[in-house]
Amino acid sequence: MKFFENMAKRIFNQEGIPILEGHVAYSSEEAMSISSEMGVPVVIKAQVLTGGRGKAGGVKFADNPGEALKVADEILGMEIKDEKVKHLLVEKKAEIFNEYFVTVSVDRGARKPVILASKEGGVEIENLAKTNPEKIIKYYPNPLIEFLPYEAREIARRMGVESELISQMGDIIWKLYKVFEKYDADTAEINPLVLTPDGLIAADAKLVVENDSLFRHQDLVKTLHYKEKAVDFVQLDGDIAVIGNGAGLTLTAMDMIKLNGGEPATFLDIGGGASEQIINQALNIVLNYDPVKVVFLNVLGGITKADDVARGVVKALDQTNRKVHIVIRLTGTNEKEGQKILEDAGIPFETSMEKAAKIAVDLCNQLKTEGD
Ligand code: GDP
Ligand code: MN
Repeated sequence: MKFFENMAKRIFNQEGIPILEGHVAYSSEEAMSISSEMGVPVVIKAQVLTGGRGKAGGVKFADNPGEALKVADEILGMEIKDEKVKHLLVEKKAEIFNEYFVTVSVDRGARKPVILASKEGGVEIENLAKTNPEKIIKYYPNPLIEFLPYEAREIARRMGVESELISQMGDIIWKLYKVFEKYDADTAEINPLVLTPDGLIAADAKLVVENDSLFRHQDLVKTLHYKEKAVDFVQLDGDIAVIGNGAGLTLTAMDMIKLNGGEPATFLDIGGGASEQIINQALNIVLNYDPVKVVFLNVLGGITKADDVARGVVKALDQTNRKVHIVIRLTGTNEKEGQKILEDAGIPFETSMEKAAKIAVDLCNQLKTEGD
């Protein structure tokens, strides 16, 4: 599961990695008032799950609150790689002397964690990997023993950072590795890690937690208040997770579950025009929410496209090892394409909401009887 930059930064910061002062905004007016309260200049950043925002125009600066309003408005109207920008991170703009790059991820080939670091971070890191791979330091910590601070300092030394920065750089690399371990991450990344007059600060943060370990991080899943995410999520007392596109449709789906004698475990609205990634994230949330026995996904495509939903479902189910009981109602825009994707993946679906709700409740009752 991918986390938005804002959430990833909060988690990194809890482990002692410095971040810039900043707040989340859901409207341009809010971005404006944050920047006047916090002080200018500010950097305004699209909160989307895809990377490369800088290059796509999703990271902009403002020198006064009026400019913040204008810039925030521009970014909120954007779509970055099919993902609608729904919220922003407004941060104090840092004066940057240098941009570094540090990431901890899993080297699937070597079947070990790997730390990659470079003195030349920033938005061009992919190009650097192609043109000057020698400038990226690669280090394999032994996953069976503790990663020690001196190893992290050794990485900093090999990066070629100034001697007075080695201890600070080492400390951040060490802490980033701790985050990676603690949260069973696939990736914990800071790009850029910036050198400012106040020392090294994480100017960007990426955290991807391994889906199959989310059950160990219920706290993390639970603290994802809806405003931090692209979906509206309310936890309820039952065991049937209800997901729909649009609040009205989701509420109707909950009523349908109730009408058939079932109890909803969630109200989860993926909103209009939800992308494949959002569907994937929504499913990940409910699949990892313990009380859920059955997932009822009710989609009547309008702006939301049925084929995007279908692709998101296939992807989420591919990624989980859990046995998932999911009942899908899929109709609306691009329904033929969507239904074909599900068919090809061997995932059954319904077109009637009433019928699907009844199937979901029956299935849940059957599972409970089997469980007793
Ligand atoms: P990404 O393109 O999605 O990775 O977005 P980033 O958060 O990494 O931002 C892209 C670029 O914007 C960074 O590499 C920086 O050059 C620049 N940037 C981001 N935050 C700041 C800041 O506080 N001050 C300055 N001067 N530049 C920033
Ligand atoms: Mn970045």
